[in-house]
Amino acid sequence: MDHLDTRTLQQLDAAHHLHPFSDNAALAKKGTRILTRGEGCYVWDAEGHKLLDAFAGLWCVNVGYGRKELGEAASKQMTQLAYYNSFFQCTTEPTIQLAAKLAELTPADLNHAFFTNSGSEANDTILRLVRHFWAVQDQPRKNIFIGRHDGYHGTTMAGASLGGMKGMHKQGGLPIPDIHHIDPPFWFADGGDLDPDEYGLVAARRLEAKILELGPERVAAFIGEPIMGAIGVYIPPMTYWPEIERICRKYDVLLVADEVICGFGRTGEWFAADYFGFTPDVMTLAKGITSGYIPLGAAMFNDRVAGVLANQGGELAHGCTYSGHPVCTAVALENIRILQDEKIVETCKADTAPYLAQRWSELGEHRLVGEARIAGMVGALELVPDKNAPGKSGRAFFDDRGKVGQLCRDKALANGLILRATYDAMLLSPPLIISRAQIDELFEKTWKALNETAAELGL
Ligand SMILES: *Cc1c(COP(=O)(O)O)cnc(C)c1O
Repeated sequence: MDHLDTRTLQQLDAAHHLHPFSDNAALAKKGTRILTRGEGCYVWDAEGHKLLDAFAGLWCVNVGYGRKELGEAASKQMTQLAYYNSFFQCTTEPTIQLAAKLAELTPADLNHAFFTNSGSEANDTILRLVRHFWAVQDQPRKNIFIGRHDGYHGTTMAGASLGGMKGMHKQGGLPIPDIHHIDPPFWFADGGDLDPDEYGLVAARRLEAKILELGPERVAAFIGEPIMGAIGVYIPPMTYWPEIERICRKYDVLLVADEVICGFGRTGEWFAADYFGFTPDVMTLAKGITSGYIPLGAAMFNDRVAGVLANQGGELAHGCTYSGHPVCTAVALENIRILQDEKIVETCKADTAPYLAQRWSELGEHRLVGEARIAGMVGALELVPDKNAPGKSGRAFFDDRGKVGQLCRDKALANGLILRATYDAMLLSPPLIISRAQIDELFEKTWKALNETAAELGL
């Protein structure tokens, strides 16, 4: 590959590359940013700017950039056996070892992995196999999935349908049939006068109302992100998930935790189910499973579900060419080895996450910030026009939602910091290896971006 200058690359990009989740016409005019290198918590763009990546790529680069061991694990596996499938009564060693490792790491009896290339495909897998699970037990009508409005479960037909993003549903005729949604737990906007723990119960009981409305004999599963990432890092009160679990058990509805963002240490625990204290029947994994170094997703099933699928399910009519691709599973194993050997999750929990939480709450004192929420290494700053307005109006959003977030994001970038904005929430999800000194840098740059945003708004 010959290296081209930035301008030429941008022109070729505009002419030939459709970007996901982007206004492609606007982007073509502006010119895309081209990233060229990464090391630890930093990335460099083609213009030579060094950026502190407080978003870990896309919630995924948990061990940080530039880990040679991961490249070496891929190279070694590619040279030895680049590919073999897991159809035809075959498989490969790293794939078996990863399945066993995931069984060991995930909670309770989530002991069975089905591999895919992405989180979206893992959720497609879950939709099909859970419906199959009920069908082979003579309950074919127990096929409804309940998700949340504004939830995110990926972009395939099933993933986008399970999610509750209205803008996504509009494109392509979604949701597909027999998927319903309840309102998400978002205390800041929706909590009214309730304290968070009371509100958590109220929000969870929306599930019970929906199950009773549809009939428990129709509801196959509830799916949720333990912390709702893409919509703006909605962290539910601690009462929410245990109550959701109680309701699922009461009506024999399977509980699916989409841990694509939360898994592999994001909350300071290996999985958010550990953080919130609940036990899912099925779990979606991707992103942090390889720290983003190579694509891989997995659906984890507990003994009950996997047992029925194996013993009553007949031949599973489902799978991808690359289910359990040995290069991807070898990289995932090495990524998990790094997380374990270097005690990265433990260090977050004991040291860096509490420090980040302290500095994040200091950012909450900024006049633009209505709420600074954080759990472990994932958080958000909710930007509001008038945080000191009395009562509920202090939780009001900007009229033209999204503009201020975008402005703040651009100010951060100009100061060498990558934060994501959803509407007017600034989202945080740094590599888990971020140091205290880098957390201080993150604080300084974010504070500066908030000041510059406020100045430009005349606030
Ligand atoms: C990113 C994401 C997905 C989709 O994963 P892809 O690998 O992009 O298909 C699913 N669920 C959640 C919670 C996610 O954040």
